[in-house]
Amino acid sequence: MDDIVSRLTRELGPDAVLLGDDVRARATGWGRPGPCLAKAIVRPRTTDEVSRTLRLCWEAHQPVVPQGGLTGLVGGTVPAEHEIGLSLERMTAIEAVDPATRTMTVEAGAPLQAIQQAADEHDLLFPLDLGARGSCTIGGNVATNAGGNRVIRYGMTREMILGLEAVLADGTVLTSLNKMLKNNAGYDLKHLFIGSEGTLGIVTRVVLRLREKPKSHNAALVAASDFANVAALLAAVDGGLGGTLSAFEVMWEPFYQLVTSEPARNRPPLAYGHPYYVLIESLGSNQETDTERFEEVLGQAMTAGLLADAVLAKSRAERDKLWAMRDDVEQLGRLAPIFTYDVSLPIPTMPGYVDEVRAGLAAQWRDPKCVVFGHLGDGNLHVIVSVGNGDLPTRRKVEEVVYGPLRTRGGSVSAEHGIGTEKRKYLSWSRTEAEIAAMRAIKQALDPRGILNPGKVLEATEIHARA
Ligand SMILES: Cc1cc2nc3c(=O)[nH]c(=O)nc-3n(C[C@H](O)[C@H](O)[C@H](O)COP(=O)(O)OP(=O)(O)OC[C@H]3O[C@@H](n4cnc5c(N)ncnc54)[C@H](O)[C@@H]3O)c2cc1C
Repeated sequence: MDDIVSRLTRELGPDAVLLGDDVRARATGWGRPGPCLAKAIVRPRTTDEVSRTLRLCWEAHQPVVPQGGLTGLVGGTVPAEHEIGLSLERMTAIEAVDPATRTMTVEAGAPLQAIQQAADEHDLLFPLDLGARGSCTIGGNVATNAGGNRVIRYGMTREMILGLEAVLADGTVLTSLNKMLKNNAGYDLKHLFIGSEGTLGIVTRVVLRLREKPKSHNAALVAASDFANVAALLAAVDGGLGGTLSAFEVMWEPFYQLVTSEPARNRPPLAYGHPYYVLIESLGSNQETDTERFEEVLGQAMTAGLLADAVLAKSRAERDKLWAMRDDVEQLGRLAPIFTYDVSLPIPTMPGYVDEVRAGLAAQWRDPKCVVFGHLGDGNLHVIVSVGNGDLPTRRKVEEVVYGPLRTRGGSVSAEHGIGTEKRKYLSWSRTEAEIAAMRAIKQALDPRGILNPGKVLEATEIHARA
C-alpha cells in the first residue's frame, strides 16, 4: 500500500479510507460516472479528522481533491491517479437552528435540500435554491459560491454565509463561526474560501443566515415578442413589485420547445411561436395584497405592449409545474453530444451576443443547435451547443465561439459554475493579469505546497506526491 495511504488508514481507521474497486466504482462529477482514478478516497467524520488528514498529506506533499455532492459542472472534483479524494459525505449534521439569531450551523456535507427543510420546519427560509438541491452539499455551494434561482432577491451563496470553519492545507483549523450580520474586526476571512473551489481550504462547518419565510408566493409565465420588451419587463416588474421579485428566468424559444415537447412530461402552458418566454416569481408577506399587486403589474405590462401572452399560476401545483418545466435540464440530453456554458454579461448586450454566437456556429458547422436560457435577471445565460461529435478539438472551437464575444462586452466566462479545469484556459478572458497575480499570491500564501485541488482555477504550481 502507498505510504501516505497506509498512514491515513492507520490514523483514521480502515472504514474512513476507500481503496481499489470501492474507489473505481465512484463517480467523479455530474455526468462523469467514473471510474474514479484517485489512489484513495478519505471520508473523515469530524473537523479534527479533516485536519489530521491534511496534516499527513501536507507532510507527504500529497495532492488532495475535495468532494461534496459531485454536482459541480466544471471538473473541480475529478482526481488524477496520484491524487486523494477527500469526501465530506460523512459530515452531514445540521448542528443547530437558532431562530433568535436566525442562523443555522451545519457541517459542510449537509445536502442543500435537508438545510432548506430544516429551515422550513422552524418557519424560516434558507433562500439558496438550485436544480441540484437534492444532491449538492452546502460545502460545495460555498466552494463554488453557487447562484441559482433567487439571486435577484437574496444574492449568491456569499450573501447567505455569516461564518465558516475551514481547514488549511497544513491541517490548521480556522474557526470563524460568526453569527452576526456586522463584524468588521479585521479581514473577513470567510470570503477567501467562498468561491475558491477547494483550492484554499476545506470547508468543514458553516453558519447560514436564515430569512423570514415568505407568506405569499406568486408566479407567472409570460411570452415576449422581442428582447427590448424582455428588458423593459424586467425593469417594470422589479420596480412594480417593490422588492419582492425573486426570479426572472428567461427561456429562448428553442429551450422552451425542448422542455415542453415529447418525451418531456411538461406540457406547454403558452403556445409556441414567441421568441422569449419568461418565468416570473415574487415572494412576499401577504398573499391577498401581493397577488393583487402581481396581477396589476403584469396587467400594466400587457397594456404597455411588453407581453404577447401570459398565464398566472393559480395554485402551488401550477407554480411547481412552471418550475419543473424550467428546471427540466435533463431534456438537454436529447441534443447530445452537447457542450454547456454558463456566462454572464450586461443585459442590454445579450441579444447581440446570442446572434454573434449563432452566426459563429453557423459559419463552422452545418445545422448547429444552440439553446439558450438562464437567470436573466442576474445577467446570467446558459448556452447549450450541439455540433459535431463532441470531441475535444470541436469543443475547443466552440469555446472560442461562445467565449470570444464576451471579451468586447465585458462579460464573464463563468457566471456561477466556477472555473474548475474546464474554463481555466479562459480565466484571463474575464480577469486582468493583476487580478490573476493576486489570486496566485493568495494561493501561495495559504497553500505554498500546492496540495489543495491542484490545477483547478489556476495552473498547478509545483507539487506532486513524493511517495
Ligand atoms: C441539475 C443541476 C443544476 C444546477 N444548477 C445550478 C445553479 O442554478 N446555480 C449554480 O451555481 N450551480 C448549479 N449547478 C452546479 C452545482 O450544483 C453547484 O456548483 C453546487 O454548488 C456544487 O455543490 P456540490 O456539493 O455538488 O459540490 P461538488 O461538485 O462536489 O464540488 C464543487 C467544487 O467545490 C469543491 N468542494 C466541494 N466541497 C467542498 C468543501 N467542503 N470544501 C472545499 N471545497 C469543496 C470541489 O473541490 C469542487 O471544486 C447545477 C448542477 C446540476 C447538476
